[in-house]
Amino acid sequence: MRILLLPLMLISGLGLLLCACVNLLALTGQLELLTSLLNEDQQTNLSVALGGGIFVVWIPAVLIAQRINNGNRLKFSWKKVLAGCPDWMRYAAFTIFGYAIVNFLAVISNSSVDNEQGVRAFTGHGMAFYAMAFSIFFSSWKRPGMLATRYCPAGHEVSHDDQFCSLCGLPAAQTGQDHN
Ligand SMILES: [Zn+2]
Repeated sequence: MRILLLPLMLISGLGLLLCACVNLLALTGQLELLTSLLNEDQQTNLSVALGGGIFVVWIPAVLIAQRINNGNRLKFSWKKVLAGCPDWMRYAAFTIFGYAIVNFLAVISNSSVDNEQGVRAFTGHGMAFYAMAFSIFFSSWKRPGMLATRYCPAGHEVSHDDQFCSLCGLPAAQTGQDHN
């Protein structure tokens, strides 16, 4: 399963890069540059690929994030999910996420929403999804132990933060993958 993280990282990395390029073009009013380079079919293909790619990477990203949080949706922690990322990558992902929101607000505050503004809003959100997905994949690639389920000697599931089982108090067994 871990090997699947590599193509997922590649897709989300490429998606982020492409979205960022198109977003920059739309932001600076140079979208004609792209429309002059690509014919209409290629433009459609590009937007389908960028949009579809989000689903391809986001579904496994959400599953992994839930797994790291032991399916606990009430106590969902991004800090836990991104624990395997270097600091700069975490900050970059959150910065891009913040940028997507600002970008979107800037677009909808415009009086006229033309095609260029639409592309700008779409690629801004694409950047955020791809960046978050990439960080999640990278984090679990670096810390595969986070994906393994831990058990106490009595067979109860133990969360990754706990040294002792919350049900019976026995020390949690090591998964053997925690040492990185
Ligand atoms: Zn137990």
